[in-house]
Order: sequence, then C-alpha cells, then structure tokens
Amino acid sequence: MMTLPLVLRADRRQFVVIGGGAVATRKIQTLVKAGCHPRVISPQVSAEVQALADSGAITLNLEKVGFDQAYSSGAFVVLATDDAEVNKAQADLAKQLGALICRVDDQEDNDFIFPAVVDRSPLLISVSSSGASPALTRHIKQRLEAFLPQQYGHLANVVESLRAQVKSVVEATKRPSFWRRWMQSQAPDLILAKQETKADEITQALLAGEHPSRGEAFLVGAGPGDPDLLTFRALRLIQSADVVFYDRLVNPAIMEFLSPDAERFYVGKARSDHSVPQDGINQLLVQEAKKGKRVLRLKGGDPFIFGRGGEEIEELAAAGVPFQVVPGITAASGCSAYAGIPLTHRDHAQSVRFVTGHLKNGTCDLPWGELIHPSQTLVIYMGLAGLPHICQQLIAHNMPAATPIALVEKGTLPDQKVHVATLETMPSYIETHDIQAPTLTIVGSVVALHETLKWR
Ligand code: SAH
Repeated sequence: MMTLPLVLRADRRQFVVIGGGAVATRKIQTLVKAGCHPRVISPQVSAEVQALADSGAITLNLEKVGFDQAYSSGAFVVLATDDAEVNKAQADLAKQLGALICRVDDQEDNDFIFPAVVDRSPLLISVSSSGASPALTRHIKQRLEAFLPQQYGHLANVVESLRAQVKSVVEATKRPSFWRRWMQSQAPDLILAKQETKADEITQALLAGEHPSRGEAFLVGAGPGDPDLLTFRALRLIQSADVVFYDRLVNPAIMEFLSPDAERFYVGKARSDHSVPQDGINQLLVQEAKKGKRVLRLKGGDPFIFGRGGEEIEELAAAGVPFQVVPGITAASGCSAYAGIPLTHRDHAQSVRFVTGHLKNGTCDLPWGELIHPSQTLVIYMGLAGLPHICQQLIAHNMPAATPIALVEKGTLPDQKVHVATLETMPSYIETHDIQAPTLTIVGSVVALHETLKWR
C-alpha cells in the first residue's frame, strides 16, 4: 500500500480551501457535508460557494491569494486554484508552517487526498487509487452506488441501536460470532425491506440462543487461481465459513475473503506431502460440522474433477451432515481460456477428454489406444513428471510425432506461461526449461490456434 485510508472526525479539524472555482467547489461541498466549517480564500468564488457563505456554512475571505497566508500547524489545507504556481507556493508555505496539504493539480507531495465516497451515512465506503487514477475510482464508486441499496444507512442505524442490548446479553468473546450469525440471518434483509417487527423477532431469538447454527458443510471449487473466476455462491460461502480446510492449489488471494476469525487448516497436498491422509480429511469435515459449524472444504478448480470431492461427500452423506457442492472453473477451462486454446473447435476437435497423468510406481496406466483420435483434444492433469513417458506412449500408439502440445504453467495467474512444442520435442523442452507446478497439458491440433488467439 502506498497510502492508508483513515476515517477522520472532520468536524473537529480546521480546513482551509484556497480557490473558488469548480474543483474547489466540489471539495468545499464535500467538507461541509462531512460537518466541517472550512475557511475559503479566493478573490472570486462560484455561486454555490457564495451560497454556502451566505448560509454561514463556511467562512469566506474574498481576497487575493498571496504568499503570506497564515496556516496553523495541524490544519488541513486544500490548494485548488487554477494556477499551478500559486498552488505550489502555498503548499510549500503551509508545509513549512506544519499544516497538511492536498494539491488537486499534483498528487506528488500530498499529505492527504480525497477518496471517492459512497455515502450511506453513517455507512461510508471510500474508494481511493492512492492518486493513480481519479477516473478509475469514480468508475468503481459508480458501480458500488448501483450495487448498494440506499437503505444501507438505515440498516447501519438499526445495528447501532442493537449494540447495547447485544453487549448486555452476549459475552464479549461470543459477540463476533453472534454478529456474524445475525448478518447471515434474514434480519438484515427484513430491515432493508422495512419489515422491522419480523426482523426483531429473529434478533430476539438469536439473542436467546434459539438459533444455534446448523452444522453444514460446503464443498466449494475455488477455480484455477485467478480470484475473479470464483462464482458468486463460492464467494458468499467462503465469507460465511467458521472453519476451512484448503489445499495447495487455492490461491492465497482467495483466502483473503475468509472471515478473519475463521479457523484455517491446510490439508495438503503437494505431490510429496500427504500431511493429512484423505480418510483424515473426510473425518475432520464430519467432526467439525457435527459441532454445529459451517465447514468449508475449499479445493482448487472444480471439486468433482480429479478433486476427490466425491469421496469427501460420501462420508458426509453417510454421517447425515447436510452439505452443498459448488462447482468451480476447472483447470482445463481456465487454462484453455487464458491461453487462447479452445478445447473444441469445428475445424479441429469435436470432443475433449480429461485424463490424469499422475504416476504410480514411475508409470501411468492410461488406455492409450482410446486417447488417440484425430479430432479429439486431450487434456492431462497432474502430468508434468510423467510427461516424457506420456509423449513416448502416445507416439508409440500412433499419434503423429508432430502433434502440437501445450504446457500451461500456473494457468490464469499473473505469471502464467504457455509452452508449446510437439510430442516429439516436448521431453527435451522440459529438460531445458525451468517449469513450475501447477501445469496442465493440452494435446491436439487446437494447440496451433494459440499463436493467433493468445490474448494475455
Ligand atoms: N480439481 C482440480 C484439479 C485437481 S488435480 C480442477 O478441477 O482443476 C491438480 C492438477 O490440476 C494439477 O496437477 C494441474 O495439472 C492442474 N491445475 C490446477 N490448477 C492449475 C493451474 N492454475 N494451472 C495449470 N494447471 C493447474
């Protein structure tokens, strides 16, 4: 981070605005809205600023801005004239006198900046790009404006009014989980829909401990890596989990969406690291759900594609634990899209086959004959170590040695790489390049499309 957003009690601070044109007017209006009484210094001001002065909301000094303005230490000074030299000279002076400055025409030395604000008072959402792009912050603000109902301010007020009662009934250590349960209950939606009596019934029941959260497990696909590829449902369930069991392929950026008090358990598995055996994971899921927790099993890609998701829910089903399964974008889809290699294409492949190239005892036992078909794309998961063997077997079973093959390294992540070779040349290519897991292999004539369709 280059800057730190803080929330300031602006009504208790001295603000000085130098300038009275369009930009200054917007800043002055923001300050007045936040409860400040700024002093405005400018020989001319807009009609809006004059009106604020007339109503007593600001102190207006209609004087020429000179180099002798007195700024008090700790004051917040906004330099917003249309003369860059005046702004700079006044900024230097104000700094020398211990004031904090914001130059609207040059973000370089600013002590503070004005974020874009989505105002649902008392709820405020501020958006800042640390000065990088006001246009981008405005764009994001607009999207948030559209997304957040106006009544959120009212909801915030209701929550505030409940806090004293919750404090007297629920002990301190249990309050965060009480509030989480409350936020996940129907109460907030009912308040937004102005059904406050019903909302209050739910609140009172929760306070009386009558709604112990029902233990439940979610088997959720986290997609191939890029957090933008999560589904809405996955995100909602990630945010609401009490405990999470995750594996190696889940991007740490996705773990950021968890509630800060969610318990996290890493359950492998790198190829050589079987820290928690599969049976152990299945039992842990059941145990935690039976304690009444919302248990999240978070897996890379799609949980039902080479993810052992089926085995995990068999155990949950046998134990009578309610569960839901959320699909994720599997590595084949993610890598194919981000590498510009369509898995099917009318001129190249009418079918696609996903196989695992995981080695057992140094070899992999695949039905080679079935994999060789001129209009079929072959996608191999977990196949890097076994790739020379796989290429050799495919050639031995009459797949042309010149068939193009792509190795997508860290697909959908910022450092994704796509390596293209042929069945014949890939084994030596791997030997001479440093290739990092995870990788996915795509074999077939669709790989030739990468050159024209790559877009990242
Ligand atoms: N359930 C997962 C697959 C688990 S098996 C899914 O649906 O994607 C693990 C294998 O998936 C890895 O060995 C690798 O072949 C592939 N994989 C997963 N994420 C990947 C990524 N970001 N880039 C390339 N391959 C990936």
